[in-house]
Amino acid sequence: MTRRILVLGGGFAGLWSAISAARTLDSLSVGLDQVEVVLIDCSAWHSIRVRNYEADLGDTRVAFDSVLAPVGVRRLEGEVTGIDVAGRTVAYEAGGKEQNIAYDRLVFALGSRLARPLIPGFGEYGFDVDTYAGAERLNTHISGLKPGQSTVLVVGGGLTGIEAAAEMPGKLRAAGIASPLVILADHAERVGADMGEGAVPVIEEAFAALGVETRGGVSVAAVDAEGATLATGERIAAATVVWCAGMRAHPLTAQFPVERDRLGRLPVEPSLKIKGLAAEFAAGDAAWFLVDGVHCSVMSCQHGRPMGRFAGHNVVSDLLGRPMLPLRIDWYTTILDLGPWGAVYTEGWDRQLVSQGSAAKRTKEIINRERIYPPRSGKRREILDSATPTVQAPPVRFS
Ligand SMILES: Cc1cc2nc3c(=O)[nH]c(=O)nc-3n(C[C@H](O)[C@H](O)[C@H](O)COP(=O)(O)OP(=O)(O)OC[C@H]3O[C@@H](n4cnc5c(N)ncnc54)[C@H](O)[C@@H]3O)c2cc1C
Repeated sequence: MTRRILVLGGGFAGLWSAISAARTLDSLSVGLDQVEVVLIDCSAWHSIRVRNYEADLGDTRVAFDSVLAPVGVRRLEGEVTGIDVAGRTVAYEAGGKEQNIAYDRLVFALGSRLARPLIPGFGEYGFDVDTYAGAERLNTHISGLKPGQSTVLVVGGGLTGIEAAAEMPGKLRAAGIASPLVILADHAERVGADMGEGAVPVIEEAFAALGVETRGGVSVAAVDAEGATLATGERIAAATVVWCAGMRAHPLTAQFPVERDRLGRLPVEPSLKIKGLAAEFAAGDAAWFLVDGVHCSVMSCQHGRPMGRFAGHNVVSDLLGRPMLPLRIDWYTTILDLGPWGAVYTEGWDRQLVSQGSAAKRTKEIINRERIYPPRSGKRREILDSATPTVQAPPVRFS
């Protein structure tokens, strides 16, 4: 009887899990008639989600079939709605019908989503860059702005908010807004402080050049068509409010009988098996472990892709009674896009400045346009080899 490895989600963690599982089966000469790999995603596309702040989204999706079909991974398009760990079954909705699929081993990689605030007006008037659909909606809205609608308020001064804000003046000018005003607001007093002492002045210099204003100590209480009302009662007039304040793991993580962290993530072993469970693995934004024995994994494609590669290999190893490979990542970098001004590249958990401006931007472009894409050649061997369970070297530096 064919045994089944089921991968939920085809983001950075899920796509690489599925390809990696196919690679390991191939290396062991185990045919897909003996063990099949099935990936379920609600979309037909692997989204290069990290590019959703960009003006041109044209090349930010890769059709799953162009990558999964050549390596024999079966794809199901549907919305996962439930997980029965005791019964080793997943429920999903496809074509308006509820269906169930059994698994022998599971990789949960449904990722994360924007923490949507429960404030009046957000559902109707708030924008985001969390998903391809959200980013498209924002870009369509911007291209339809009228001359007086020149202010954009970006809420959330983390990495996503900074990248979204830095790109915004250019987007507005391209839409015919001659004098755009972009305000990046955050609860914290100093925007960008998370990026480390070395990077903060770089971000401030970029924002000054781009015309992005920052406001610390801000708490937004409501959003409407003309702007935001702060908790203090003050108004910020803005035709566009973009919410970038935090991500949470997929809510279906609640269906596993384990304790999740404050972001809703599942605790996993370095093998990516969910702690305390027998047949279930998790990778990417939905999971956490200490990547180097000390530091907790970060919701990032930087960690999601190697987690996927190791989860895919290990799920096969576990099923076939072979030794699993522990994942250990000894480096950490952050390369933050600062729009037309350039970027800033830091290294280490203490975020030492490596490069800035156009030098860092070259690194960012290689990451966003090459390094994190699956092969698009359609060549089976190349796709399988790209999922080898190893940790890549840190991104290239330029000076
Ligand atoms: C604008 C932006 C910029 C970013 N910049 C960076 C960066 O510079 N560097 C970095 O490392 N990280 C960055 N990130 C974070 C990075 O995108 C995430 O950490 C990464 O996408 C997580 O990958 P994942 O596979 O775990 O989950 P996701 O990317 O969330 O993928 C989950 C997949 O599951 C599918 N799915 C979800 N729910 C269901 C369901 N119920 N049924 C079926 N399918 C479902 C989705 O369609 C998706 O394909 C950025 C994020 C954003 C939004």
